[in-house]
Amino acid sequence: MIAAASDWRARDLAVLWHPCTQMREHPDALPLFPVAHGEGAWLVGFDGRRVLDGVSSWWTNLHGHAEPRIADAIGRQARTLEQVILAGFSHAPAVELAERLLACAPQQAGRQPLAKVFYADNGSSGVEVALKMAFHWFHNRGDSRRTRFVTLANSYHGETLGALSVGDIPLYRRVYAPLLLDVLFAPSPDAFGSRDEAAAIACAERAADALSQLLDAHPGEVCAMILEPLVQCAGGMRMHHPRYLQRVRELCDRHGVLLIADEIAVGFGRTGTLFACEQAGIQPDLLCLSKGLTGGFLPLCAVLATQQVYDGFLDDSRERAFLHSHSYSGNPLACAAALASLDILHADDVIERNRGTAARMTALAAPFAQHPQVAEVRQAGMIVAIELHPEAGNAEDGHAVEIAGRRGLRMYRAALDHGVLLRPLGDVLYWMPPYCIDDAQLKVLAGATAAALEEASPCA
Ligand SMILES: *Cc1c(COP(=O)(O)O)cnc(C)c1O
Repeated sequence: MIAAASDWRARDLAVLWHPCTQMREHPDALPLFPVAHGEGAWLVGFDGRRVLDGVSSWWTNLHGHAEPRIADAIGRQARTLEQVILAGFSHAPAVELAERLLACAPQQAGRQPLAKVFYADNGSSGVEVALKMAFHWFHNRGDSRRTRFVTLANSYHGETLGALSVGDIPLYRRVYAPLLLDVLFAPSPDAFGSRDEAAAIACAERAADALSQLLDAHPGEVCAMILEPLVQCAGGMRMHHPRYLQRVRELCDRHGVLLIADEIAVGFGRTGTLFACEQAGIQPDLLCLSKGLTGGFLPLCAVLATQQVYDGFLDDSRERAFLHSHSYSGNPLACAAALASLDILHADDVIERNRGTAARMTALAAPFAQHPQVAEVRQAGMIVAIELHPEAGNAEDGHAVEIAGRRGLRMYRAALDHGVLLRPLGDVLYWMPPYCIDDAQLKVLAGATAAALEEASPCA
């Protein structure tokens, strides 16, 4: 059995080029873990070794791996209709999913609700869709001077060139800078270090004031502002007060700028509510959903738009239409998985049940705040972040990059040795487990975190 795991490791490294990885680090510094199968919150190796998925496999998984209800829905759909062109043709899962998403999308009193769904097939593509739509919408109104996007410091929106342009994580962006769009950066409302809610609100107000000045300084130039509501996940799980989102909504309205909410990571219950925007009572003009959309089974992105945005493309001319397409737009298998995931969220009362799970996560994480290496423990629903004091000599200098630096690698390996997959983001260890995680598994998670923190000590 052990030979099988090492065999897969060797065959993998002979042919695969892994994402977000310096391949030189394999196989010595970074042990490669071939997975034979998944089972709830567990990943099981070929040698039978079990590892708890503390990061929901890059924040995609909601209800556990190989969840039978979603697997069955995909199987049924595959035997019915696996894929069909979505231009000129339609199918039931795409229609039903759009209806269901629009019915549960964030709504704000006095605003026209989100009314149309455009499908892309992954998060970055969905961000490209939203950016292009925003620009094109103004262009169709005869306002082609609005060519710029506002984004936040420390934000992340994906890896394709447009999405990378509105991101601010130096290690991912630096090399490609000559290829990227010229965007405007507003300060992050990040409440790191705030001792109470009043301090977090003060951070939100300061950042909103700065955004106001930025928009004042660029009248008529900006078509959209894009942000990750409540948690900048890839940016180190930095969190902000919902007050910021309310101020942004007002400022975008005042300046006639479209608001794009990227809930690709925080949607579907991660922050405690179905969507993060709900906590601020605001509604964006464009909403990007992916990752957890299919319960973590298949890639799919839904971009929700208001009727007003949609109407801006109606015309006799093809050029005014949104001609963007992806071969697998609205793939029936992915839509069927998403419908099954929504059914589970509802049938198992997942958002309510998560309240109890989140409270247990709070209790288990609280002691880490006393650890000499820990600067802050913070939480938003099903996301817990344990931020360490900066590592001396880390080239990324506090910027969040997955398992960066020697300390990050030590912590990653220590957690893995204790049976948990944790991928520290720079100085931040975080928990983002599948919602099905139970009490015994939460204790395994906390135990491995304690072991990882032991490795964080400078003398380790
Ligand atoms: C992951 C992520 C993306 C990109 O999604 P992909 O499917 O990986 O391309 C965009 N925005 C946010 C907030 C994300 O976390």
